[in-house]
Amino acid sequence: MAEQYTGACLCGGVAYVAHGPVHHSSHCYCSMCQKQHGAAAGSYANFSADKFRYVRGAELVQEYASSDEGRRGFCRVCGSSLTWRSVATPNNIAVTLGTMEPPYDGEVQRELFPENKPGWVPGK
Ligand SMILES: [Zn+2]
Ligand SMILES: [Zn+2]
Repeated sequence: MAEQYTGACLCGGVAYVAHGPVHHSSHCYCSMCQKQHGAAAGSYANFSADKFRYVRGAELVQEYASSDEGRRGFCRVCGSSLTWRSVATPNNIAVTLGTMEPPYDGEVQRELFPENKPGWVPGK
């Protein structure tokens, strides 16, 4: 299903469009996602990299190298976390579910590092 997904950061300076299909989506409870998102998990949908583009504010997006391979894209004005990609798999880009407008309505198939889920998550 070739759906279109759109989204923007908190300040609205950055906006993007991605075309499906979503390869998979996930909640990642790794400590790096927790730190960067300031939350229990980083929640992402994965797209083909050539199906994702910024429609506004690409110049505001900064990437942080959180590991040798991981690159975390965020708005340098408001700090919204927008993307995760690995330089080892350049055909894939992960886009944060929380920045999608309208809200993502697909399923989330995977929980990554569930053993690292914090005790303060409801229903843990
Ligand atoms: Zn912003
Ligand atoms: Zn993670």
